[in-house]
Amino acid sequence: MSELAPPHSLTCHHCGVVYRRPELDVGEWATCIRCGSTLETYAVFSAAAWLAVLIATIISFTLANAFPVATLYVQGAGQAASFIDAVVVTWQVGYPEVAAITFAAGFFLPACQLCLLIWIFGALAFGRLPVFFDTAILWVDRLKPWCMVPVFLMGVMVAVVKLAGLASLTPGIGLFATATTAILITALTRLSSGKIRSMAHDIGLAAKPASVPKPPSPALITRTWALMLGAAILYIPANMLPIMKVTSLGSESAHTILGGVIELWHMGSWDIALVVFIASVVVPLFKLLALAMLVFMTQHRTGRNLRERTHLYVVVEFIGQWSMLDVFVVILLSALGHFGSLLSIEPGGGAAAFGGVVILTMLAAMGFDPRLAWRLAGHRRHLTRADFESSH
Ligand SMILES: [Zn+2]
Repeated sequence: MSELAPPHSLTCHHCGVVYRRPELDVGEWATCIRCGSTLETYAVFSAAAWLAVLIATIISFTLANAFPVATLYVQGAGQAASFIDAVVVTWQVGYPEVAAITFAAGFFLPACQLCLLIWIFGALAFGRLPVFFDTAILWVDRLKPWCMVPVFLMGVMVAVVKLAGLASLTPGIGLFATATTAILITALTRLSSGKIRSMAHDIGLAAKPASVPKPPSPALITRTWALMLGAAILYIPANMLPIMKVTSLGSESAHTILGGVIELWHMGSWDIALVVFIASVVVPLFKLLALAMLVFMTQHRTGRNLRERTHLYVVVEFIGQWSMLDVFVVILLSALGHFGSLLSIEPGGGAAAFGGVVILTMLAAMGFDPRLAWRLAGHRRHLTRADFESSH
């Protein structure tokens, strides 16, 4: 059995200090004295307001998937594609793993997340505690990083720019609905298990207090190294193999990630080229190097720069999903570029390897617990005088 925290406590998930939950006023927020992470912000939205946001999100998410995001015209013939079409085409041309990853991140997991939140807020808004409350809020935290609708939206933008040079492209209803969904889903990421629990508590429901999280095990270090090694190995084929193959009027060309960036640059879209370069090349490398440094320093129990290291970890966690950008671009282009011998676009082996890199680095980042760095450097659940001194 894990130890239950006192009813009004709040645990810092980044360094492990346990606090008494503070009373917050409008516009106020609480930060951790030791590591500087935000512990809680004043809840502006009531449960009923969140329920309204959720219903709006479900409507726009349905529209985003029911209608095509764009239609491509080549010599009078048109090809429309929705997100689901893109997944189906990717599966049919022989890349089931890429299809599965994108379907999960762009549709299935966001749909699960929305169902969970409706389950929770459908009850909270009417002053009831839902059945399986604790399990439901736990899964809200677990699913959050895998819901990539905003990344998919950026992918549509990049695909539109890439195709604009080849043929004429008309945006569809699905595109506007995807944009709305991306904004609403970003708003919903503010909901965490801790925040939902506090809301339930504040409306007078007998929500069980959160249990104090178990101290992180040093065994995490080996697992994180293993996942990172896997990602580093896959990073090579992800960059060497073509991410897509384009056949236009009989001539075939293969595009690697860097090749695609250079091509965008030559087309004059330097801004989009920069976005793709950062998302696909800089972000995965930065994530691997930053995590390697964090794990290495934790392993050596050093207490140096702990606050900065915690902030770096938050950044690594946040940017994780954005590397998926190019995979979304490729599957969209494949779904739109279907004109027989005139123009055909197919994903390449690089896309599958790249999806693997994204998943492994995300698992590595999530599996590494920043509290371990504090713990191994000798900091425990209770604040010491040193914590107060270093915070000023
Ligand atoms: Zn902290």
